[in-house]
Amino acid sequence: MNIETIAIQAGRILDDTTGAVMPPIHLSSTFVRDNQQGLVYSRMGNPNRNALEDCLTALEGGVEAVTFASGMAAVAAVFQSLGQGDHVLLADDTYFGVRELVNGILTRWGLEHSLVDMTDLAAVKAAIQPNTRLVWIETPSNPMLKISDIAAIADITHESGALLGVDGTWATPMLQPALALGADVVVHSTTKYLGGHSDLTGGVVVFKEQGDLLEKVRFVQGNAGGVPSGFDSWLLLRGIRTLPYRMRGHCANAKQVAHFLADHPKVHTVYYPGLEDHPNHDVAKRQMSDFGGMLSIQVIGGAESAEKVAASTKIFWRATSLGGVESLIEHRAPVEDENTKTPWDLLRISVGLEHPDDLIADLAQALSKI
Ligand SMILES: *Cc1c(COP(=O)(O)O)cnc(C)c1O
Repeated sequence: MNIETIAIQAGRILDDTTGAVMPPIHLSSTFVRDNQQGLVYSRMGNPNRNALEDCLTALEGGVEAVTFASGMAAVAAVFQSLGQGDHVLLADDTYFGVRELVNGILTRWGLEHSLVDMTDLAAVKAAIQPNTRLVWIETPSNPMLKISDIAAIADITHESGALLGVDGTWATPMLQPALALGADVVVHSTTKYLGGHSDLTGGVVVFKEQGDLLEKVRFVQGNAGGVPSGFDSWLLLRGIRTLPYRMRGHCANAKQVAHFLADHPKVHTVYYPGLEDHPNHDVAKRQMSDFGGMLSIQVIGGAESAEKVAASTKIFWRATSLGGVESLIEHRAPVEDENTKTPWDLLRISVGLEHPDDLIADLAQALSKI
């Protein structure tokens, strides 16, 4: 079945008593014993959450999906399934929140990690240690839009007996079939494109196979308890129904915006994997069906100029996050830590579903201020 059909059909609940075409929202925290669905308590399972997990499993072509109350809770569950003394290999531009999680919590619990440039395959190979259990990539990466070669890194990872996890948040299951390309697990912050309307936080881990890792992540879900509510699960499933069509719009708009910015005299660098001069354009073309709705730019005049542009846009609101129908812009480095590698003149842009001409006009007037 095609993804447009799966997004709409998977995880449907037919309520026999009413015939409702759209599912009811189950807010009950607990369930009477011996019910048909084997439900016990909402931390362990909820009808809306179960339907959502069925849909996410089908979208990724996996065997099971485990959902959480945020993307970070999903990432944390994978890392928490490892043990003391295990080593994780991370990208050197891994999402800021993941670095905070590792440095601030998991290091204290005995997890080892190191960083490597995931676009340099020889370096990845050399960085694998005897105790490496997990290689963690994020592609496209945030906010530098680097593209890691999932299939090639999967080969290197599997040769060493480790597992490959992919944070596919920016690509979504629509654009990048991470499991089919070789990942063992794929994680999404469903807060972003999967939800699509900036009105919920959520996360998911989808598994290629049954096994130890899945059991452990399911255990973390039920016992650490960072679970999505019935209402958030309902909202997220509602958002997913239109994911394929929203992604088409995001990709088409971002492409136009990227070309406009690439020719703009006040912009010295554009990071968008769809541009032919992007350093990983060939890998992106191979593993993605389109290039997504996110891009970053560096403007002339340093941090001050970047701040001014972000403050001058009117359609693009200045806010963190991405993947909603509305366009957002963010001066990124100041919200990261002092050791950030993000250039100080960089703006991260989430291209929404407004008309591209209006988006381009808004950026043109904001750039004219510097
Ligand atoms: C936002 C984001 C996360 C974290 O997700 P939350 O839902 O904010 O917890 C993780 N990875 C990437 C790539 C993200 O963009």
